[in-house]
Amino acid sequence: MDMTVQKNDRLTVFVEDLTHDGQGVAKVDGYPLFIKGALPDEEVEIHVVKALKKYGFAKLLEVNKPSPFRVSAPCPVFETCGGCQLQHLSYEGQLMVKEKQVRSAMERIGKIHAPVLPVKGMDNPWRYRNKSQIPFGLEDGRVVAGFYKSGSHDIADTPTCLIQSEEADRLMVALKERALEFGLTPYDEKTGQGQLRHLVVRTGYVSGETMVVLVTKSRKISQPERLIQLIREIEPTTVSIVQNINPARTNVIFGEETFVHWGKSQIVDSIGDIQFEISARSFYQINPVQTKVLYEQALEYANLTGHETVMDAYCGIGTISLFLAQKAKSVVGVEIVPPAVEDARRNAVLNGFTNAEFEIGAAEDVITAWYEAGQVPDVVVVDPPRKGLDGKLIETLVAHKPRRIVYVSCNPATLARDLRLFEDGGYTIHEVQPVDMFPHSTHVECVTYLTI
Ligand code: SAH
Repeated sequence: MDMTVQKNDRLTVFVEDLTHDGQGVAKVDGYPLFIKGALPDEEVEIHVVKALKKYGFAKLLEVNKPSPFRVSAPCPVFETCGGCQLQHLSYEGQLMVKEKQVRSAMERIGKIHAPVLPVKGMDNPWRYRNKSQIPFGLEDGRVVAGFYKSGSHDIADTPTCLIQSEEADRLMVALKERALEFGLTPYDEKTGQGQLRHLVVRTGYVSGETMVVLVTKSRKISQPERLIQLIREIEPTTVSIVQNINPARTNVIFGEETFVHWGKSQIVDSIGDIQFEISARSFYQINPVQTKVLYEQALEYANLTGHETVMDAYCGIGTISLFLAQKAKSVVGVEIVPPAVEDARRNAVLNGFTNAEFEIGAAEDVITAWYEAGQVPDVVVVDPPRKGLDGKLIETLVAHKPRRIVYVSCNPATLARDLRLFEDGGYTIHEVQPVDMFPHSTHVECVTYLTI
């Protein structure tokens, strides 16, 4: 094939689409070029930096005709930081792009024709994260902290992160200035030298309680009492200061050993009327405002009257399960990670639920076994990780036909794939409601319901 596009070409192109990681896509005689920073419907000038056989990459030189949704990114490190991909697109534009992404996955991958509703977005899409995990490093003898640059483990030194809490911002800045006073030299992933690996900050959205976790290579901190005092002064909402030790040469954030320096070992927070206890390593949804939106939608789609038995597959710490338990006769949650199941059980007790139980195991095995033992749920809720449902679980459900399935998904592609199998198995898919849990990123969550 004649290659029309060559490395170092300078071209003027029209941007048609956006990839899953937020790059613009233009086609030159059918040959796709990926252009970071370019937006759909723009005419841009580019410099081709890599021309592979089937596609290439280009650098954005000039935007000749900007998208009506182009804005200048408010974050000072947007160009280098890998945390956000879409700050150069207005929030309205982001929601439109996400809706289109879901619709196109439904049509292309699943041949699903159920309506895709407009994305439920946030009124204020900033400072939404209730947890920040901030790596620390040294650059020319200076302490730096922020998020990793895109596609690397180099740190984009960040003066303020506009999607994290004010609490996390303040602690990040202060620790950057003062870490060395406490012997907390930043850890270097390449050499394994240094002490301070990550600062993790969690703040309860409703409770306002803050937990500060210092992840270090060893236990050693000089003058820990003074450090505790400093943290409490900088962030008076702090109720828990914890150290986690991670000596391993790994990019996994947490190590096995955790101990409390000051205050509680957990913070509490609530979603709607339900309270949760969250410890340093517990999984908990990142965007509390939109989590409530998502769960309320799931609850509405479950259409509970108080008489139903519900199975909640991939239940994590039981957040959706307890939401459902408010309106169902009983709920059983299934989750593969044992500590998450412990959290789920504790949270059920904490909230006085006597109709919610949890089991450890793979959803596809546990639910199949339940059916074989004659347990028949009225409603099944699933919320799998990005890879979607296990084929065996779909087979089991299609064979036993619970009359209603609510599917919560963080990946439209695998959702569309799975919905095809349910529709082939006789289910009707009613509508797909996308919810924006991660403004300025390309992620989009969906919830949908099926009946038979
Ligand atoms: N529903 C929860 C968590 C969803 S995240 C919430 O809203 O907070 C997906 C969960 O599925 C994770 O907790 C993960 O540990 C779990 N998981 C992954 N594979 C699984 C499997 N095969 N069976 C059961 N749970 C699984």
